[in-house]
Amino acid sequence: MDLDQNVVVIDNYEELAGRPGFAPSLSFHPQGDRKFGSVVAPYRFRDTIACGIKSCHTQHMKGYLITTSDGLETGIGIDCGRKHFGVHFTRQKKQIDDAVQRKRRIDTVMRAVQEIPAYLVTVTELKRDYQHLTDLKRRFMDVVGVRVFAELKERADRGNTLITKSVPMTKSEAEAHFATTNRKKGDRKDWPEKEVPVAKLDGLEFIRTKFTDMLVTNLIKPLERFAATKPGDAEKMRPRALYNEAKWIGKVPGDIAKAREVIRAGNAFFTSENLMKLVHLEVDIQPLGPMLQDLREAERLLAADQSQPDA
Ligand SMILES: [Zn+2]
Repeated sequence: MDLDQNVVVIDNYEELAGRPGFAPSLSFHPQGDRKFGSVVAPYRFRDTIACGIKSCHTQHMKGYLITTSDGLETGIGIDCGRKHFGVHFTRQKKQIDDAVQRKRRIDTVMRAVQEIPAYLVTVTELKRDYQHLTDLKRRFMDVVGVRVFAELKERADRGNTLITKSVPMTKSEAEAHFATTNRKKGDRKDWPEKEVPVAKLDGLEFIRTKFTDMLVTNLIKPLERFAATKPGDAEKMRPRALYNEAKWIGKVPGDIAKAREVIRAGNAFFTSENLMKLVHLEVDIQPLGPMLQDLREAERLLAADQSQPDA
């Protein structure tokens, strides 16, 4: 049996009932002479229908269209074939299920082949944006030094975007503090302090993400390899290869969305306003001067560009 041929697709009950020779209810051996013929196709409906085996009539949404020994057709519940017709049914069901699944995967791969040019344009843009951000990151690291960068990375790993500073508690806050801790009012320790937020760092996720792996390993390389696929190739693929291809393709849109998110974070991190917040982390801003200058210039150009009507 050629698995790619003659996969029957049934989307609703009308299509099932409209087939020549279809009968909603039939008696089978031992209630009569009629026997199971073969499995035609699986189906899955929104509403339930009764199983076509007269002695069963179980309501079901998922089932199989089958033929009979006297050339009729009916629909039976998903578990009914095994129960009523045994291994003869089960073996055929597996073949049909495999064929349907293979057709679905071929369709997925062929659709993706059409999408490739658009995917490649997107990924090339992401690569360019990422290269730009990587250059900024390298420059930034050179200027702020290893210690500050490591501190930022640690914050990124913990998702700690808030910069705080310590200030003395108010009188009533201190009262509450004395009441709930082992501090005593009038003890010889310093007046209690509390942390208050002073700034929130944007785009810190960019520092954390292993973006190169994500973009190059998950997207660019496989897409370039896949770009060599022609529409007819999917039908020739072996089941395992087809499975892997369909699975990988299914993940592409999600991976592109993730990559976009990282670029967005990088752009949010490398703004003059965001980098100025590092003052609160006792980072020496002075050496960052030229970089801030360049960022401000780029921001000014971008703003001017966006306020201009399309040329
Ligand atoms: Zn049944």
